[in-house]
Amino acid sequence: MIIFYILIFILGLAMGSFLNVVIFRLENREKIVNDRSKCLRCNHILAWYDLIPVFSFIFLKGRCRYCGKKISWQYPIVELITGTLFVIIFNFSAQGGPASGWQFLLSILSLLFWFYIVSSLIVIFAYDLKHYIIPDKIIYPAIVVTFIYKLFEILNFGHLNLFRIWNLPAQGWSALGGEIGNLITVFNPFIAAILAGAFFLSIVLLTRGRGMGGGDVKLGFLMGLILGWPLVLIALFLSFIIGSVAGIFLILVGNKTMKSMIPFGPFLVLGTFIALFWGEGIIEWYLNIII
Ligand SMILES: [Zn+2]
Repeated sequence: MIIFYILIFILGLAMGSFLNVVIFRLENREKIVNDRSKCLRCNHILAWYDLIPVFSFIFLKGRCRYCGKKISWQYPIVELITGTLFVIIFNFSAQGGPASGWQFLLSILSLLFWFYIVSSLIVIFAYDLKHYIIPDKIIYPAIVVTFIYKLFEILNFGHLNLFRIWNLPAQGWSALGGEIGNLITVFNPFIAAILAGAFFLSIVLLTRGRGMGGGDVKLGFLMGLILGWPLVLIALFLSFIIGSVAGIFLILVGNKTMKSMIPFGPFLVLGTFIALFWGEGIIEWYLNIII
């Protein structure tokens, strides 16, 4: 079983390497899949052994083999984070135990979906941190894919039974309450998305765009879709706490002043990851405290 984890980690490292290329191409407005990788300073085409995730960076001591220019820490960090998150996701899906047939296909599909979403969020994290912008080219496809995946989940789990709703008058209207409850369960991610999106939109309107931007509205919407209710609430809560602590820290160290802009996207992504992986545990822990 350990071999699967190692393979998934390597896959994550390779994906992280690709995400670095995506970030670079977004910065330079090139097509995502283009020609070969080059050093930014000396334009030397990089060999395959210069492009091994993490290892090349360590081996070359963070410098270009040909001209000695420093390579950004972003490269190994994004690779390591992608590898680690891929392993965490795989671990969650492996806990369901071995599946066969149709069920196996579904778990592969869901694994691919989560790999894709985590990759998108990593790009958003890095790009917003560097440029204070959440790229539309990343967030719109992520919203569309998540929307389709959640619809698919609804159909697959059979929560939605239109025939039952159609027959409500015959069953007696007392069943209506239960059906409304079912509908809320079914549309949970969509409701959470609209609520979280509206929350950020109201902040943007109230602060006239000084506090947050349109990118945060889109990211809030995506978070709602991904997490559903009440996990999205946990994610938002964590983002605001981590964001405030980081903000105060940066001001104390003298890195930023009260007037500096600090992008909020990275904290939203961080909150999303924590809520996604440990949100249920946090809710349980919280309920245990207050009861
Ligand atoms: Zn070079």
